[in-house]
Amino acid sequence: AKGAGRNRYSYFTPALQVAALSRMRLTNDLRGALKSNQFELYFQPIVHLDSGTIHKAEALIRWNHPQRGLVSPLEFIPLAESSGLIIEIGEWVFRESANWALRWRQQVDPAFQVSLNQSPLEFQREGSSYQSWLQHLQTLALPGQALVVEITEGLLLDASHAVSRRLLQLRDAGIQVALDDFGTGYSSLSYLKKFDIDYLKIDRSFTRNLAPESSDMALSEAIIVMAHKLGLKVIAEGVETPEQRALLAAAGCDYGQGYLFAKPMPADQFDAFLHKAIST
Ligand code: C2E
Ligand code: CA
Ligand code: CA
Ligand code: CA
Repeated sequence: AKGAGRNRYSYFTPALQVAALSRMRLTNDLRGALKSNQFELYFQPIVHLDSGTIHKAEALIRWNHPQRGLVSPLEFIPLAESSGLIIEIGEWVFRESANWALRWRQQVDPAFQVSLNQSPLEFQREGSSYQSWLQHLQTLALPGQALVVEITEGLLLDASHAVSRRLLQLRDAGIQVALDDFGTGYSSLSYLKKFDIDYLKIDRSFTRNLAPESSDMALSEAIIVMAHKLGLKVIAEGVETPEQRALLAAAGCDYGQGYLFAKPMPADQFDAFLHKAIST
């Protein structure tokens, strides 16, 4: 039977087979990763452009694979989604984010916010994970305002009831919502008036090519004006140079995030970074 199987699939090129096998292995490894503490949350500061102060950070997951070292979320999040493991991983991300948000609210800034990513699959799922979120917030006596959930535009386009309901639930709990990677996916903007969103995150692909008079400058300015008219704050992703920062600030952008300020770093390192930032 094994031989027949081999023949049947012989039209796969070896390269594809290798890639598929490697994905299977990685998915398998992913199953044990939570239990053996291989995940780690990194944090990257989100900087208020006018004052240069830090009141928010984005939580970004890392996987310390015992053999392969750090595996990028770009590689393993899709596997976590297709295998369903994303639900458990997402709950871990939520709890960790809330725990750190509590600490930084108590020690650094009572208004500090941690922003966490949710893939469409997590966001659309009914029921239990949201209940466990609320429970965790209650246990910590942490208000929902300490957290922001980052979702992508696609989710709002084919807006199902599940999505609208989840957005309302977050709102009820005081948790804010950011639209991630804004400007990359779709051109329909009508969902911006339909849904209650708090932040727009201008995608890195716009920030990268910012220059006076450039089309990306024009687009960024238009996005910022529109967002403000709709009552949203704007965060620019991928700010790497002082020039980009200056152009964004001049265009009225509220916040910046990127290597210019700091790369994502382990929680204890970010903790030290924050304490240092408030003491200077
Ligand atoms: P994202 O949400 O768009 O996150 C921003 C990405 O840009 C991060 O990559 C960050 O390290 C990177 N970045 C930040 N500043 C700069 C910069 O100045 N220049 C450049 N070139 N890159 C910068 P990262 O950490 O590899 O995450 C990749 C993606 O994985 C994220 O994109 C997000 O979609 C997903 N992701 C990360 N953590 C989680 C998570 O906990 N849950 C879910 N569902 N997805 C996650
Ligand atoms: Ca994000
Ligand atoms: Ca993003
Ligand atoms: Ca992105």
